[in-house]
Amino acid sequence: MPGYASGVRVSGIPSRMSDSASNDLSRRNFLRTAASGLGAAIALTPELLAQQSKPNAQNEVQLPQIHAAGEQPEKAPGPFLPPDRRIGYAIVGLGRLSLDEILPAFATSKYCKPTALVSGDPVKAKKIAAQYGIAESNITDYTNYEKLKDMPGVDAIYIVLPNSMHKEFVLRGAKIGKHILCEKPMANSAADCEAMIAACNKANVKLMIAYRQQYEPMNRYLQDAVKSGRFGKVRSIVATNSQNEGDPTQWRLKKALAGGGCLPDVGIYCLNAARFLTGEEPEEVFGVTIQPKDDPRFAEVESHCSFTLRFPSGMVATLTTAYDVHRSTFIRLEGTDGWGEMDPTFGYHGNKLRLGKTRQDKHEEVADVSLPDKDQFALEMDHFSECLMTNRVPRTPGEEGLQDQRLIEAIYKSAAAGRAVRVTPPASQTRGPELPPMQN
Ligand code: NAD
Repeated sequence: MPGYASGVRVSGIPSRMSDSASNDLSRRNFLRTAASGLGAAIALTPELLAQQSKPNAQNEVQLPQIHAAGEQPEKAPGPFLPPDRRIGYAIVGLGRLSLDEILPAFATSKYCKPTALVSGDPVKAKKIAAQYGIAESNITDYTNYEKLKDMPGVDAIYIVLPNSMHKEFVLRGAKIGKHILCEKPMANSAADCEAMIAACNKANVKLMIAYRQQYEPMNRYLQDAVKSGRFGKVRSIVATNSQNEGDPTQWRLKKALAGGGCLPDVGIYCLNAARFLTGEEPEEVFGVTIQPKDDPRFAEVESHCSFTLRFPSGMVATLTTAYDVHRSTFIRLEGTDGWGEMDPTFGYHGNKLRLGKTRQDKHEEVADVSLPDKDQFALEMDHFSECLMTNRVPRTPGEEGLQDQRLIEAIYKSAAAGRAVRVTPPASQTRGPELPPMQN
């Protein structure tokens, strides 16, 4: 696919070759590396993975069906990979997101496991290692990060550090040959994002940005509804992602570490949703930021940002984000023939989805959509793990993070200038291949 680091290497597979040659080599490489210690976690061939995702695959447990035929189909619970066949992740940064969400998510993942920790606090790291069965010898600190290169069982690195540190740790991780999953926002500037993509291409490692919402079932359902034409032509999107920050000394309120205020941290969810739910890229943005002089929390960054995106089809997205209001999240897409909304959305759990349209008998029909509440971090990490096992481009590669960063810069530029700013749409698609249909 143009614009990607296509044919990226997994454990020594050369890049940039025809698909069939690449698949063939991948297969041989998987088998070869399976025999070595390093390959143990990625010894799953594309064929085996495909076979395992089929019903009645050898390691799948089939429970007896108990519900009536007209009910939702019952699904088998697996198949999960055994621990010694999973992709091993080093978690870099042991803050709130790592401890509250990412590490617990491995328990429901199918294809991955935590195998190493990088932290500036050895006491905390030892405690966490004990909780997750990680060997103490697989703990290191930021200075000795490169030790990950030779640690057993480390196939990939998950970077969960303050935004300004993403670039350094992606570059250093790529240099030691590790595949990288990096938290959003990708970095503090488009130039840094470009450097991160270039470094991963050069090192032939895969790079994915952790846009968990793109792997979440209700967002995927809404995306499919747009694509199927259920809403007709989408004309308007309105969305908010806001919260109330406390501690004025935290890194999120320091411009050098965070890159900005609410916009890159939580406003990015509205921005990214407008793009991925519709598949369109904006050609003009207009932003307004507020930075109250009398609130010590906002000495360096904005407390509020309202921004409008104009798309080539005539669709307009009107989006807001704030750091000084009670938590508030929703998104609504309005089309010529219907609408879809999620309220709440953007959180880790509890999304609610409603769809509206006029029925043939001209009555308005409003439907609640009920889907299982899945762990978004497990889905996202499993996707990246599958990409490593099958040598595929992730759905949210570095190019997806770069495009958001370009738009964030344009929104700030517009807010400073007090006028709309034109943006050049990316030359090629910023997302990797479509995800396979949702299962289980
Ligand atoms: P946090 O402050 O809780 O944790 C940050 C970690 O980095 C801490 O362990 C801290 O000790 C370490 N660190 C190392 N050097 C530091 C420095 N110079 N200053 C401050 N901390 C330093 O933050 P978090 O909430 O875990 O966020 C980490 C990353 O994850 C950020 O990029 C953030 O945007 C992202 N994030 C993503 C989601 C999501 O839903 N995907 C949610 C929250 C945070």
